[in-house]
Amino acid sequence: MAHPITSSRSLAAYRSSLGLLVLGACSVEPLALSTQGGLAAYASSTASAPMYKLEGWQDSDRKLLAAALDQTWGVVTSADFQNRVADVTNLHESRGGPVISGARLLELYLNDRLPVTYRSSRASGETADTGIAGDHGLTNFGIDNLARWPAGETPDELLERACMINTISHEWTHAISDARAHVRFTDGCHGSSSVPLVSYTVGSIAHCVYLEQKHVIAHDRFWPCVAYVGTATFSGLSVCEKRKWLSQI
Ligand SMILES: [Zn+2]
Repeated sequence: MAHPITSSRSLAAYRSSLGLLVLGACSVEPLALSTQGGLAAYASSTASAPMYKLEGWQDSDRKLLAAALDQTWGVVTSADFQNRVADVTNLHESRGGPVISGARLLELYLNDRLPVTYRSSRASGETADTGIAGDHGLTNFGIDNLARWPAGETPDELLERACMINTISHEWTHAISDARAHVRFTDGCHGSSSVPLVSYTVGSIAHCVYLEQKHVIAHDRFWPCVAYVGTATFSGLSVCEKRKWLSQI
C-alpha cells in the first residue's frame, strides 16, 4: 500500500532543548579521487554482509563496527525494510530536489550503492559524513557512535543499537552516486528540511524496522515511529537513550 511520508511532527521545540546535534546527518562534497586498489580491495556483498573496508580502527572498535554493519545489512535486506521503503511515495532526493519513488530508491540502495571505506574519526563525535571518491564511498565515522553498540540486547540497549543502525543505513544513501560521480542524495548537513528526504527517511525506516523486529514497538506503531524519529531531520538523541517517546507514538 502506498504510504505518503509526512515531514514529521513539529520537532523544533524538541530539538531546541537538545541543542545542535547531528546523527548520521551529512553528505560531503566530492572527494579527491583515490581508488585505493579499486573495487577488488573490497569483499563482495553477500546475503549476510555488505561491502566495506575499515581503515585505521583499533581491534576492539573494529569488531563493534563490523558487528553493527552486519546487523544493519540484515535489516536493510529484510522484507520488512524493503516493503516499507517500496511503499513510500513522496521522498525528495535532496532539499529542493526531485521526488523519487520508494521502489526506485530501493533498487538503487540495494544494487547501486558503492562499497564504503570507514575511517575512524575522533573529531566527529557521534556523527558521520560520507562522500564519494571515484568507485567507492568514504565515511568518516565518529568513534563515539560505537557507544551505541552495547554488548547486550535489553530494551534500553536495543534503543541504542537502533540509533547506530539509523546512522549506518542513512550514510549508505550517500554512497549512491549521480551521473557526475557526486553524492546523489544529499541533506545539506545542517538544519531541517521542509520535505521528507531520502537520507533521513531511510535511516528512520531501518531504525523502526529494527525496533519492530526486536518487539520494542508494535506493528501498527511502525509509521508513527518513523515520523517521530524523523524524515526531514533526526529527532534527537533522546530516542537512543530514553523509552518515554515510545509511549508517545
Ligand atoms: Zn546525511
